[in-house]
Amino acid sequence: MAKHTFNAEVTKLLHLMIHSLYSNKEIFLRELISNAADALDKLHLLTLTDEKYKGFGFEPKITITIDVIEKRLIISDNGIGMDEVELVENLGTIAKSGTKSFLENLSGDIKKDAQLIGQFGVGFYSAFMVADKVEVVSKKAGDDKTWIWRSSAEDEFEIDEAVRESQGTDVILYIKKDNEEFLNEYRIKEIVKKYSDHIPYKIFLKIGDKEEQINRASALWKLSKNEIKEEEYKEFYKTISHDNNDPLYWIHTKAEGTLEYTTLFYIPSVRPIDLFRADYEPGVKLYVKNVFIMDDKELLPVYLRFIRGIIDSEDLPLNVSREMLQHNTILAKIKKSSVKKILTELKKLKNHDREKYIKFWELFGKVLKEGLVSDFENRETLLELMLFKTSKSDEYIDFETYIKNMKENQKSIYYLIGEKELKDSPLLDRFKKEEMEVILFNDEIDSFVIPSITEYKEKKLKSVSSTEVDEDFENTKIDDEKYKDLIEAIKKPLKEKVKDIRITSRLVDNPACLVFDKDDPEFQTYIMLKQMGHFDAKEPKAVLEINPEHEVFTKMVLKNDYSLANEVAEVIYNEARVLEGMEIEDAAKFAKSLNTILSKALEK
Ligand code: ADP
Ligand code: MG
Repeated sequence: MAKHTFNAEVTKLLHLMIHSLYSNKEIFLRELISNAADALDKLHLLTLTDEKYKGFGFEPKITITIDVIEKRLIISDNGIGMDEVELVENLGTIAKSGTKSFLENLSGDIKKDAQLIGQFGVGFYSAFMVADKVEVVSKKAGDDKTWIWRSSAEDEFEIDEAVRESQGTDVILYIKKDNEEFLNEYRIKEIVKKYSDHIPYKIFLKIGDKEEQINRASALWKLSKNEIKEEEYKEFYKTISHDNNDPLYWIHTKAEGTLEYTTLFYIPSVRPIDLFRADYEPGVKLYVKNVFIMDDKELLPVYLRFIRGIIDSEDLPLNVSREMLQHNTILAKIKKSSVKKILTELKKLKNHDREKYIKFWELFGKVLKEGLVSDFENRETLLELMLFKTSKSDEYIDFETYIKNMKENQKSIYYLIGEKELKDSPLLDRFKKEEMEVILFNDEIDSFVIPSITEYKEKKLKSVSSTEVDEDFENTKIDDEKYKDLIEAIKKPLKEKVKDIRITSRLVDNPACLVFDKDDPEFQTYIMLKQMGHFDAKEPKAVLEINPEHEVFTKMVLKNDYSLANEVAEVIYNEARVLEGMEIEDAAKFAKSLNTILSKALEK
């Protein structure tokens, strides 16, 4: 017998499993059945594609045995099985990034953490919610030896040799005293019906010498829509996603014609925990003629990575490999129409169930926007799907509404990008005065996707922080000569900080603002770098535009007194930064300048 210790993450998870007040314990059965089905999938595929396994005479099935006398619940499958090394690896460590990030997210507060489990399937270890001891007897297909893994959820587990007639796995749960409901025939039937009715394998319940099939074992996605109840769609989602919440929406499509395939896509109602990790788990599974082939990130574009579901094709070969996936023209066609279908359905949702769509947008809008720079073919639709708030609207609107609201003399669609509160930005002065609406973009991703959109339905998109908008207005010509001294005086202390200082007519209530020349090569490079994922690219220097008609300046010019120019420059420059969501550059210097001005003001 060999003793092993769990790795630290498993220990943490086990502790949580045992001590959490988690109420939804029944999901352990869904998780174990799902593992059994995975094991059947693997062997199933091998018997169809690999010479070595072709003669196996394989009849996939899962058996749940209730042993009333020993108070044991046994989940058995005749799938691929595990050898000694795999038992140690699979049931002693945590390899999946999703589970890892789940654990990173734990707070240590049992109540809160229990809620987190509710949002996330934790697989095999959930057995310890209902059992104080678990044994796994397994024989790998093609091997002679059988192994038993044994643990009572302390720091250690044991592995020993054992006997099992044929390939497959038995997971034996010694049910805890408080959880004897899981030894009840009707309770087990109820849970299986709920979560596992539509896994494609037969599940039998065995008590004594009585054995009966307790699920339908029909792939849900193969049934026609009117045969499927809403509840069934929802529970099936939980089975494939390991998410315990109802999905927000689903899209079930059967394509017939040159290509025959079925897709069932779900949109979750909570964000998958690894949504913003590069090593996120793919949520879509590929089936060929009802046989599970693989799950793979290539099945849908990255910007739809929140989708969970199934693609089942009649036209692909069973032995399609991961490498082939990327070059397979049939799959490429299915992918392309799937994307179109998902986006079209989202458009319908947006028009018919606004509340639900807003919920979707708040969950996944950020991710969807990534498509604007990666999926040019669908850019128009992606733009139609966008929601945003504006300088005039705290409710979400879209481009169509924006255009409807445009002023008669308004030439372009205007927007402002920033990470914080944008409503008070000086850059909005002119637009407020002219009663023109400005879109406020404040997702992190906006600064590198939005500038790449130059047009929507023949209307130009322009950033109000770009000097480009000037050409849309009749500029009331300002007498530069009159303000030559002022500019000189302000320029001196800010020389290193800004690219230039100019007079503008775009400001009304504010003395200054920071803008960029859209044609500035430095600015273009910066946007490009950001689009390429260099988020730490250094922002180029801005141009400080000042409003010479603001009181701060008129007095200076009138009296021809520039003795406070250094301090004023420092303060208005930082003011402009703060109002655009940036930070004060040098707080000490700023405070000092402000104090000098204050004491001068109080002298009078
Ligand atoms: P997941 O199923 O998401 O990978 P689990 O914690 O549920 O995570 O299972 C961990 C691993 O243990 C599986 O990936 C699989 O390799 C192995 N495993 C679990 N149950 C079985 C089984 N019945 N037959 C074969 N392998 C299994
Ligand atoms: Mg699992």
